[in-house]
Amino acid sequence: MSRFRIPFGSPAPREDAAAIRAAIERVVSSGWYVLGPEVTAFEAEFAAAAGAAHAVGVGTGTDAIALILKGLGIGPGDEVITTPLSAAYTALAVMMVGARPVFADIDPARHTLDAAAVARAITPRTRALLPVHLYGQAADMDALMPLAAAHNLSVVEDACQAHLATASGRPVGTIGIAGAFSFYPTKNLGALGDGGAIVTNDEAFAAKLRRLRNGGQTNRYHHLEPGMNSRLDEMQAAILRARLPYLQAWTHARRSRAAQYRAGLAGAAVHVPCEFDAGHVYHLFVVRTRSRAALQEHLANSGIETLVHYPVPIPRQPALANQQPADCPEGNRACDEVVSLPMHPWLSADDVQDVCAAVCAFHEE
Ligand SMILES: *Cc1c(COP(=O)(O)O)cnc(C)c1O
Repeated sequence: MSRFRIPFGSPAPREDAAAIRAAIERVVSSGWYVLGPEVTAFEAEFAAAAGAAHAVGVGTGTDAIALILKGLGIGPGDEVITTPLSAAYTALAVMMVGARPVFADIDPARHTLDAAAVARAITPRTRALLPVHLYGQAADMDALMPLAAAHNLSVVEDACQAHLATASGRPVGTIGIAGAFSFYPTKNLGALGDGGAIVTNDEAFAAKLRRLRNGGQTNRYHHLEPGMNSRLDEMQAAILRARLPYLQAWTHARRSRAAQYRAGLAGAAVHVPCEFDAGHVYHLFVVRTRSRAALQEHLANSGIETLVHYPVPIPRQPALANQQPADCPEGNRACDEVVSLPMHPWLSADDVQDVCAAVCAFHEE
């Protein structure tokens, strides 16, 4: 039990619980646990839901990004431009393939990669752009895609927080060469463990990724290229199949809570970032304040749990100390000011109203 009256959220099954238990039982009795019929079926169902031609189930969202980069032949000596404001795993995936993450600053209003900053970060070693569709909202693909085309760069979409999101009406993950999704339990579609998927409209690339996730095998014991071992397992695939039919309704619920937050926070002393794309799926509802610690304490005292996504800019993580230094003042500022309010499909209208009232009762010092 949470000590909060309004907890941030919980990934425990709800209306999907019976379907999940049935799925688990089906896999337990099947005798088939890795790369079997559940993964094949989930790949088809997730591709259809995501508006993509192909989906490839993999071990995690991080592996999904690394596998796409590997599939593009990106490795040592190559640079990949990405954002300082994301889960650190975005940049760690670049380092996993031996390439160098280069950080371009964010647009402070949208919180995703600023195309002008990306343009300044391009060098002869740049191979790809890795925008993150942060908090459930697409990056500015209308600006990034022409930039990438002009410099002959691949675009790899980190869609780990953006299941069912669209960018100017186009499904995320299908705009660049491929998109990476995570099914970490707290994501908009979560497994009961780790899981990930890659979507792409390129059939040959999908076939290559299917090999690369499975040790580079073409058939059993024949390894054509040095792949990874990163497979979505049958149990998680079956659980995800049980949950996927609810995803659209859950996404609608998130959007309606977000609209309620926007109305309820109109007069509050916090900054509510505006919505840039109606395809936003509100993985998180993030506001900004210069008095973050005080706001979090005030809300905790009212029984409301909040989190920070993310407190440390990726280039300032000790794990990246040997990487190229970054100049991202807007990313740094965001990391000092952002705070995530409770957001999940089961948040009641009364809960949102209570959170709004508590935020409105807060006054910046
Ligand atoms: C969760 C997440 C990842 C990593 O996904 P895992 O499945 O935990 O490896 C990468 N990027 C972003 C933006 C994420 O939110």
